[in-house]
Amino acid sequence: MRIFKFGGASVKDANGVKNVASVLQHEGIENVLVVISAMGKMTNAFEQVADAYFYKKDSLKDFLTNIEDYHKKIITNLFKDGHQIYTKVDFLLGELAGIMATNNSTNYNQVYDQIVGYGELLSTNIVSAYLTDIGVKNKWLDVRDYIKTDANYRDAKVNWKFTQQEIKNNIVVNSLNITQGFLGRCGTETTTLGREGSDFTAGVFAYCLNADSVTIWKDVAGVLNADPRVFTETELLNEISYTEAIEMAFYGASVIHPKTIQPLEQKNIPLFVRSFENLSNKGTCVGKGTKINPEVPCFIVKKNQILISISAKDFSFMVESNISDVFDKLHEHKLKVNLIQNSAISFSVCVDDKYNLFENFYNDLKAKFKIKSYKNVTLYTIRHFDNEAITTIRKKGKSIISQINTETAQLAIQTLPSN
Ligand code: ADP
Ligand code: ASP
Ligand code: MG
Repeated sequence: MRIFKFGGASVKDANGVKNVASVLQHEGIENVLVVISAMGKMTNAFEQVADAYFYKKDSLKDFLTNIEDYHKKIITNLFKDGHQIYTKVDFLLGELAGIMATNNSTNYNQVYDQIVGYGELLSTNIVSAYLTDIGVKNKWLDVRDYIKTDANYRDAKVNWKFTQQEIKNNIVVNSLNITQGFLGRCGTETTTLGREGSDFTAGVFAYCLNADSVTIWKDVAGVLNADPRVFTETELLNEISYTEAIEMAFYGASVIHPKTIQPLEQKNIPLFVRSFENLSNKGTCVGKGTKINPEVPCFIVKKNQILISISAKDFSFMVESNISDVFDKLHEHKLKVNLIQNSAISFSVCVDDKYNLFENFYNDLKAKFKIKSYKNVTLYTIRHFDNEAITTIRKKGKSIISQINTETAQLAIQTLPSN
């Protein structure tokens, strides 16, 4: 049995949906479970709805119209007038309107999950109806009946015991099944597994069903040694090990969601990353064997970072107690740490520059610590670096911090003057 995952880019328009059907026909639809994300950038659009709804903004109506128009344009291009998908899309959007009319929760994350999940419900209904229309028999599954989670909305943790029971007892994959990525359920409520979580959904199904393989279909040839949006010259990695894939995802390679690999590794299920635009390409195989082939440096880029250098005002050493204070505050202010370096009297971290989190952190610590910050920092991580790779990155701006281990070099580069 095989698990396929199609992300937003693969179903961003009517031609994308047709192409997904072609991929399935080409690859065979026997014993296949397909996990699909919201169409194009629709999850971002639903996030706007959640925000406007929760904070009672006037823009809500426009955001909803944008979502309705986007999906209606796609279905108009795929289906004849009067097809039942029109009623289904209206039904789902009506259901969403109903939730918004009756919801009185003050928990933003809970409200977010009830709204944002409609992206996947719409996309899977559309793809499933299209496949049926062209004669490809399939079964639409509501993933929330199978993936059970805790109530940690927006980053829900899978309850493996219940999820495994539901999947094993209730799913018989002997034909083509279509379901949603990203979603789960806690009690009667929808939960989400974290942005870009559909890859992980594929991993969960693969684990519970002892799948033969998972294939993630992408708009690139496979896992490349660098993000093609940032680097002009990239190389396809034919093979990488589970460990290498986890390392790359951990440092921020956005091509595979970090949580995906672990369940696959546990059952030794190979993961293929392939291009939905070029079916003759083999893409990348992530598995147990070869660490990395070809052996080239791999570049991972994290933009919009702040580098924070912290030292004690009384000039005391930055050792256990001071560092633990700093970490408590980093955790409290939800600052995600991407690089750590310390010397006797200073402790530096690179964090994501998001939602003004740094300002609150700064205000909390400034009484006890001297804090220097550098904005407009990009963090470059090079796995399997060589001198040439490091020289290339150093040319990109002012290097503020670098850290070199056996297999990984990290350089924080500032592109504008510090504040
Ligand atoms: P999906 O539609 O499946 O969610 P994403 O847009 O999230 O796809 O991911 C695919 C994109 O990831 C590619 O178009 C590419 O620009 C980017 N990307 C970043 N790093 C890499 C990498 N190392 N290899 C391949 N693609 C990468
Ligand atoms: N649609 C969700 C997102 O955009 C999940 C996913 O695409 O993996 O984050
Ligand atoms: Mg994605």
